[in-house]
Amino acid sequence: MKILFVAAEGVPFVKTGGLADVIGALPRALRSLGADVRVVLPCYGQIPDTYRQQMTDLVTGTVPLGWRNQYCGVKQLIYDEVPHYFIDNEYYFKRDSIYGCEDDAERFAYFCRAVLEMLPALSFQPDIMHCHDWHSGLVSLFLKTHYAAHPFYQSVQTVFTIHNLQYQGIFPHPILGDILGLSEDYFTIDQMEFYGQVNYMKAGLVYSDRLTTVSPTYASEIQHDYFGERLDGLLRHRQKDLTGILNGIDVQSYDPYTDPDLYAHADDLLRQKQINKRRLQKHFRLPEKERTPVIGMITRLTAQKGLDLVLHVIDEIMKSDVQMVILGSGEDRYEQRFSEFAKRYPDKLYVRIGFDERLARNIYMASDLFLMPSIFEPCGLSQMIAMRYGSIPIVRETGGLRDTVQSYNEATGTGNGFSFRNINAHDMLYAIHRALWFYQNPQVWNNLVKEASQMDFGWTNSARKYKAMYEDLKKMEDVT
Ligand code: ADP
Repeated sequence: MKILFVAAEGVPFVKTGGLADVIGALPRALRSLGADVRVVLPCYGQIPDTYRQQMTDLVTGTVPLGWRNQYCGVKQLIYDEVPHYFIDNEYYFKRDSIYGCEDDAERFAYFCRAVLEMLPALSFQPDIMHCHDWHSGLVSLFLKTHYAAHPFYQSVQTVFTIHNLQYQGIFPHPILGDILGLSEDYFTIDQMEFYGQVNYMKAGLVYSDRLTTVSPTYASEIQHDYFGERLDGLLRHRQKDLTGILNGIDVQSYDPYTDPDLYAHADDLLRQKQINKRRLQKHFRLPEKERTPVIGMITRLTAQKGLDLVLHVIDEIMKSDVQMVILGSGEDRYEQRFSEFAKRYPDKLYVRIGFDERLARNIYMASDLFLMPSIFEPCGLSQMIAMRYGSIPIVRETGGLRDTVQSYNEATGTGNGFSFRNINAHDMLYAIHRALWFYQNPQVWNNLVKEASQMDFGWTNSARKYKAMYEDLKKMEDVT
């Protein structure tokens, strides 16, 4: 079984969010189940030199894009036993940021086309091309159009995974001909047309053989208009091809006992949390109080993450005996408001604007609680990492948060976190107060930490589900 993952980011080469974590971990999990999984990524300027120096050049060629032909080189690096290919074109991929460029329509159309152009020269013929999010949505479209008669691709099947339906890659109508090289026949509501524009995510959803998303709850949520981002009709139409498979986390990398980025290690998780909490408080010049609970947040600063709920009641949160540590980057308005609050509460609230993997790991380790009140959350990895590091999540019951966090039930003593249902700041505040209340009871709390940190969030179960789906698809191909 040969699978090619096509994605725009992947750990350890380039990461802006959870997609990169998935691309960095799922292929390895699938390989350990016997599948030959490889990954193809753009060769961004941001990839650290240590990896660049290990890459070898495989092939070069040109890629047709609209009326032009663009240069393409393919490099290879085997990382953690997973062969990675990198599509190299400095004009497209040596930029200050990996997304958000004016010509993203062209950059990612080029990427998808380049993958399909180059693959026959790589002596790797996948049974399945597994594409992730809008950046690779055009692969399935191109396979059914420009490459429909190409002998190399006759038996290739496609899977498209939605990691976040909110980001769709929507571009003006003229790119259909100018960049994608397709006629107006494709500009219909059941194909590429999306409210007068062209939508790359929609291409993935229309033309791929199977669709998945990253949690069972999100799979059902996105079929409703509130979460469906104007694609819910199409998703309902493809309901029988759509499944939700929960993401895992890389349990080797996120292992509190061996994580080299942590301030300190100990044999016992509770003790280790205590030591790291002290260090974190010292580092951030917060009072070094052992019994004051620390609430952590590590997040993209965007409305999706429920930040307005937090801002709405932050003064009330600060009235409790707590400390809060927030690490995030994103929209200016959130960066500014959280920074202002940090100045107002220097003894209680520490805010670091930026993306810092090492600091993130130390916050997971040192915090007692992890706040993630997302408005929607396709899966969410942060709550799983937090639990593994013994930081108890407080979440809104949506998407993957609902599928991974069970609110503590004092009658039965079961649960691994705290949750609330409505998009309501005071419901969130109540959940926080409830968590702080139980924090005062070491017996309850230590059990919660134990329960949460022992949850199995590894990739094996999910990898098995993906593998079963690939096998099912291949069986269907063999029959036809
Ligand atoms: P999303 O993909 O929507 O951003 P996830 O919870 O699925 O959310 O994944 C977020 C990942 O990115 C986690 O690994 C989290 O630790 C990491 N992360 C988010 N913001 C930061 C940051 N500012 N610095 C370091 N890591 C971050």
